[in-house]
Amino acid sequence: MLRCSDFAVLLREKRLHAPPWFPELSLAQLSCSEEENDRDSKIKQKPLPPLPGQHPVNICTFVALFDYEARTEEDLSFHAGDKLKVLDASHEGWWYARLLLPKGSYVSLTGKINVFYLFRWFFGPIKRADAERQLSSPGNQAGAFLIRESESLKGEYSLSVFDGVSVKHYRIRKLDEGGFFLSRRKTFKTLNEFVDYYSKNSDGLCVVLGKPCPKVQIPTTFDLSYKTVDQWEIDRKSLNFLKKLGSGQFGEVWEGLWNNTTPVAIKTLKPGSMDPKDFLREAQIMKNLRHPKLIQLYAVCTLEDPIYIITELMRYGSLLEYLQKDAGSQIFLPHQIDMAAQVASGMAYLESQNYIHRDLAARNVLVGEHSVYKVADFGLARVENENIYEARSETKLPVKWTAPEAIRYNKFSIKSDVWSFGILLFEIITYGKMPYAGMSGHQVVQMLDKGYRLPQPKTCPAPLYELMLQCWNAEAGERPTFKALCGQLECYLETDSSAYAHAQAW
Ligand code: AMP
Repeated sequence: MLRCSDFAVLLREKRLHAPPWFPELSLAQLSCSEEENDRDSKIKQKPLPPLPGQHPVNICTFVALFDYEARTEEDLSFHAGDKLKVLDASHEGWWYARLLLPKGSYVSLTGKINVFYLFRWFFGPIKRADAERQLSSPGNQAGAFLIRESESLKGEYSLSVFDGVSVKHYRIRKLDEGGFFLSRRKTFKTLNEFVDYYSKNSDGLCVVLGKPCPKVQIPTTFDLSYKTVDQWEIDRKSLNFLKKLGSGQFGEVWEGLWNNTTPVAIKTLKPGSMDPKDFLREAQIMKNLRHPKLIQLYAVCTLEDPIYIITELMRYGSLLEYLQKDAGSQIFLPHQIDMAAQVASGMAYLESQNYIHRDLAARNVLVGEHSVYKVADFGLARVENENIYEARSETKLPVKWTAPEAIRYNKFSIKSDVWSFGILLFEIITYGKMPYAGMSGHQVVQMLDKGYRLPQPKTCPAPLYELMLQCWNAEAGERPTFKALCGQLECYLETDSSAYAHAQAW
């Protein structure tokens, strides 16, 4: 337990960043035996805002797990191990915090933090399959564990533990009056106490909790800074163009630096390719879509041509190229299923938000570090001025990804996205082969009407092909939901982690 009185209080407070899915939980985890006794008059004038279901008295000192470099003047820079006190957690995503420095320090530092950085064992809303992947990484010893937000039960948590051979999952139950337990025999006020107890006693667990699983995936923030949460039309002079990453149907994509601090991707839109008003309306929606498997839109520059779209940067570029090049041919079925599951998870989120992608394909999925795959370019097809039939180069021809009812009657829906997802599965399993190779878009449409479907690729297990065929059901309503697709793909990863050996049986 930290002794807050050991630290002198700083002069200034700044914002720190918390992802929207975090605040309630992270504060719920904190326990504090002592109130900081050097609280200054400023805080007295400005009491801490109440948090959902929490009393501010429970808010104590946070310890940063990673370094964070300030991006703007408003931010608070800190190093791993620094102590931070949250003063205002009322704003979704951005917290107002004070950095506590050891006695004798008089430098005032400023910066912001993603609260994910504060608890070693808390991994937020990661999937069960993701937990297994991370816990089974080489280097983890028996007892390695993490706590994650349960997918099936909102507000509940799960404990995932590596027993040295495999990963076991336990549901952490909640008491109505607040508190947590695995077995009613032993209850805990906070998750900290829970972790503490099971680090000393196995008491029914497969193994005593050891070291928290290392966090290799540092999360991306949902905004560039506190200010861009609302004012996301930014000054184009704040962008430095560093390297051209590629060019797409809308224009060029550059790696850039925002505010000389933050790496970003900058998409430049060909003048005339979109009506700025339509684009802005769409971008407003896109800005509010937040999911770890969707590329985050950070900001835009729309006041003059060319329009810029600023998004998170993904190190390995498009999935299509990734599959076709060296990295792609070194990955095998379980990894391919994981890719598909990650895309399905991002799409299931869009589905839950009643949002349609309209151009789902491997070229519009981006690859990041640690085998992270994210869906990009959602929504842009809606504001595109081009006609879907317009002949593009074969690789960009969307007809081959588009559901028949969308081609014929412009009936785009989440179910036409599911059709495209089936084609994306084909791309993943064939390492980026062109679907219906050698056929024109027009021929494809005619053949589909007659009931023709892409044949089963040699490397594709029968159950995966069955899933593709379901996505290509002529009746849109009969196609599965993304939620179901995601569940089925993850289920495979979960039930058979040695999928290499059993791939054919699936
Ligand atoms: P697009 O205009 O979306 O088709 O993008 C063209 C190319 O730029 C893609 O194939 C990627 O290689 C690259 N690219 C696009 N967005 C990003 C990003 N956010 N991070 C890294 N590379 C990107």
